[in-house]
Amino acid sequence: MSVMQVTKRGCMQAVILAAGLGSRLKNRIKNIPKGFLELNNIPIVEWSIRKLIGIGIDKIIIGTGHCRKYYENLAVKYPVIETVYNPDFANTGSMATLAVCAKKITGDFLLLESDLIYDSIGLFMLINDTHSNVVLASGETKSGDEVYISTIGNNILKMVSKNKAELPRVYGELVGITKLTVKYLNAMLEYAENNNDNPKLDYETAMAIVSKEEYPAYVRKIEYYTWCEIDDENHLRIARNEIFPKIVENESLRTVKREILLNPGPATTTDTVKYAQICPDICPREEEFSNLQQWICNELSFFVGEKGKVETVLFCGSGTAADEIMISSCVPDDGKLLIVDNGAYGARLANIAKIYKLNFDVYKSSGFLPLDIENVKLKLIEGKYTHFAVVYHETTTGLLNPVVELCHFCRQNAITTIVDAVSTFAAIPIDMDKDGIDFMSSTSNKNIQGMAGACFVFCFKDALEKIKSYKKRNYYFDLYAQYEYFKKTKQMRFTPPVQVLYALRQAIIELKLETIEKRYRRYSACWSELIKGLEELNLKMPVPISSQSKLITTIIEPKIPKYSFKDFHDMAKRQGFTIYPGKLSELNTFRIANIGDIKPQDMKEFCNIFKEYMENL
Ligand code: PLP
Ligand code: MG
Ligand code: MG
Repeated sequence: MSVMQVTKRGCMQAVILAAGLGSRLKNRIKNIPKGFLELNNIPIVEWSIRKLIGIGIDKIIIGTGHCRKYYENLAVKYPVIETVYNPDFANTGSMATLAVCAKKITGDFLLLESDLIYDSIGLFMLINDTHSNVVLASGETKSGDEVYISTIGNNILKMVSKNKAELPRVYGELVGITKLTVKYLNAMLEYAENNNDNPKLDYETAMAIVSKEEYPAYVRKIEYYTWCEIDDENHLRIARNEIFPKIVENESLRTVKREILLNPGPATTTDTVKYAQICPDICPREEEFSNLQQWICNELSFFVGEKGKVETVLFCGSGTAADEIMISSCVPDDGKLLIVDNGAYGARLANIAKIYKLNFDVYKSSGFLPLDIENVKLKLIEGKYTHFAVVYHETTTGLLNPVVELCHFCRQNAITTIVDAVSTFAAIPIDMDKDGIDFMSSTSNKNIQGMAGACFVFCFKDALEKIKSYKKRNYYFDLYAQYEYFKKTKQMRFTPPVQVLYALRQAIIELKLETIEKRYRRYSACWSELIKGLEELNLKMPVPISSQSKLITTIIEPKIPKYSFKDFHDMAKRQGFTIYPGKLSELNTFRIANIGDIKPQDMKEFCNIFKEYMENL
């Protein structure tokens, strides 16, 4: 976990107060914490965690007490969670739990109670509110355990109480979701310390006492906000029967029309990645954006190597840009490059090398059959090559090249390796050091499941320093210049794709949660469904199963006169599935990719559409 704070929309951490005994639900939660009451088979706190992650929170501190083990186990499932134990939970109030969490809070944060269910729009509102300290309030709930709020002046928090009579005027009810700065937190901690005769102090009481004209917490009321807390049996019943279904309905109204892209990227993205692009305008030269870019580079590097071994250099552009950057920047004039061409992307690498007039040869091989590893090795040695370029996964056909074995061999023989991993990275686990890869390209819109517009070159550090002295062949695509400038300034040399990078940040958070290993398992499970469907339709694939990437599949078109790719495409498209034509001159084929935010069930449905099309021919 990066310690650097990325202050996108001003607020990137969350604290959940979850130590309480929940004494009013005694029988039900004797052996579980309140947050583990389930709605739709998911603990309510897990609903909350998913919503927080969904808006880009990448650090969630949970203050635990009663049945802490549950939260500690949850932290294994969600590595964004850090738990802190309040050993005195039975005798202290929520302020004491917040105090034990405080040492882990390093920036602006959202503060939540663990026994809440709520519409995620409240989080969006808080993050986008221009005030620094904002208390979310609602209109009347009649819940029976209301914490009333009174305000002064321009909606400044003045008092909180469960007893209406104590307040001069009730403005709203406390929801239990608040945005605070560290400065405000410190003032609350100071108050608590000076009043330690009241160990049962609630955080909301401290918060109200601290709020002053010159240093205010604003109350933002959503009159008809959908939320409730679950403190007793009655709350639980209302949550199940009324509030939870309303939340589900509200949130479903904000889902974006889903298109299942079975083309090899841009891939289907989650709505949370799509929404990450909706953020305040920012001048990308601001420090906040520098931090975002540095965070992205660090996290991308961690995916492909141990800390300190890999540098990720970001550019604006598509995958081909990253390929051109590597080929034009990483081979010196006196170097000699061997390029494997067993598909359109290998051929593209050779085209780039030709335009830059590099000293290179092409190793041509079948687009369907596995590379002859021993023969490539022989060629590398006999030809005295200094550099070797290969496409990890030839998206042209779905053929997976034996990159690890070849790059290992190159490292043993001091040959620099350049790998196009555009359609490999974030699906197939890669460790550049162990795998012997020096330079590697990828993009924001394929297996990482972000938006199109950013590309990156992963550089094994030892190899990167060597290219510093190489003659420059272009201006924009100069790898070392971009690296050096970024190292000094945390900025790309030229305008970055701002919103694409916010989306990439969210995509990285989601990949860290899923992990590359599990993502490949999910993709492979989708692929298995496809293969089953193809077998049932008796359709053939030119690439043997054992050489397939399980990321995209080339399929030989059925030899039925009425079959038309266009008709099939249009029929599938009408049902939300986008399929892709083939890229081979020698065979009539089409391709089905299975990357992106898709599930095996989606592939099953696609196979049914395919069968329906074939049956009606
Ligand atoms: N290399 C490989 C292996 C690819 O699959 C692709 C795109 O599919 C590219 C390079 C080119 O990427 P882009 O179309 O983003 O330029
Ligand atoms: Mg309550
Ligand atoms: Mg409560």
